[in-house]
Amino acid sequence: MKEPSAELIIDIDIIRNNIIYLKSLLNPNSKFMAVLKANAYGHGLQKIADGINDIVDGFGLVRIEEALNVRKFSNKKILLMQGLYNKADLDLAIKNNFDSVIHNQDQLFILDNENIHIWLKINTGMNRLGFSPKEFSKIYKGRLISREFTLMSHLACSDNPSDELNSKQFDLFNDVAKSYQDTMPKSIANTGCILNFPQQNFDWVRSGIGLFGGFIGNDILETAMTFRSQIIEIKNIKKGDRIGYNGRVTASHNMKIALVYAGYADGFPQATFDNTKISINNYSASIFGQVSMDLLSIDITKIPKCKIGDWCIFWDKHNTIKNLAAQNNLISYELMTRITPRVKVIFKNQ
Ligand SMILES: *Cc1c(COP(=O)(O)O)cnc(C)c1O
Repeated sequence: MKEPSAELIIDIDIIRNNIIYLKSLLNPNSKFMAVLKANAYGHGLQKIADGINDIVDGFGLVRIEEALNVRKFSNKKILLMQGLYNKADLDLAIKNNFDSVIHNQDQLFILDNENIHIWLKINTGMNRLGFSPKEFSKIYKGRLISREFTLMSHLACSDNPSDELNSKQFDLFNDVAKSYQDTMPKSIANTGCILNFPQQNFDWVRSGIGLFGGFIGNDILETAMTFRSQIIEIKNIKKGDRIGYNGRVTASHNMKIALVYAGYADGFPQATFDNTKISINNYSASIFGQVSMDLLSIDITKIPKCKIGDWCIFWDKHNTIKNLAAQNNLISYELMTRITPRVKVIFKNQ
């Protein structure tokens, strides 16, 4: 057996299919921005941006470093979604033809330069980033009347269509747009909006989690990553024996336990509950005992022919990342982005 390592297999065809599906839900004048912040939600920025460049209209990023990386091989629109923080970065942004968000007073210096396309972000109720409609009105009258810009906002609960905050946010966004010329391009939709409120897609949709299949409430979008590792030890446990740190679990009968070579230092959540389902040789097995730094333990008592070296799949397109997230009160966004650099990354269909 080769020295084992947890592996992350990224299937670019799945990401492409997810994008093609999401685009099929848009009306023809909505453009598709792939949001690839945080290393493409943990999938690898360069490979993903390169692998989808031909089927998207632009990229949404946060850090200038990320944007420079993507600009090396893409001529598409690149938006810095949290704006710029100093003049040196503004110069870099202009040189590389990046768009920039402006979300607060400290970023108004960006308006001094005519050579950058800007996205004015308004706060419609999420109360994170963005100008209030009142602040926006001042800026508009002072500095935007004769300038092109895109009006944007961000939704707090688009994954929960029955939350009343959604309609409040849409109403405010539409009111602000209407009280000005209403000819500016507009953007408010993230993945949840594309799926739950397609009538609010406007000119640009900004989709991240949908690309990678982590959106709860849609089963067409597939999990694009396979996170797996190998069994390195199998133990027979007697009724009454306790397993792992804190002896968290006690065998209720004679059992067979497999130790798998992955732990929280690989990004597998330490807080994972017992009974969380993972997959081995096409059978479903349960987490049994507390996850350690380099190891986790699963119950394989009822799984035939399990042996050292067999691969254990934590999540993939069949046993989805959403399942593991939901069973543990976590979100798939976090599971994707917490996988650590020691995990071996393999790209499929690149
Ligand atoms: C992350 C982000 C998105 C993408 O949201 P998803 O829910 O992953 O589709 C869109 N817009 C902004 C401003 C973001 O920060």
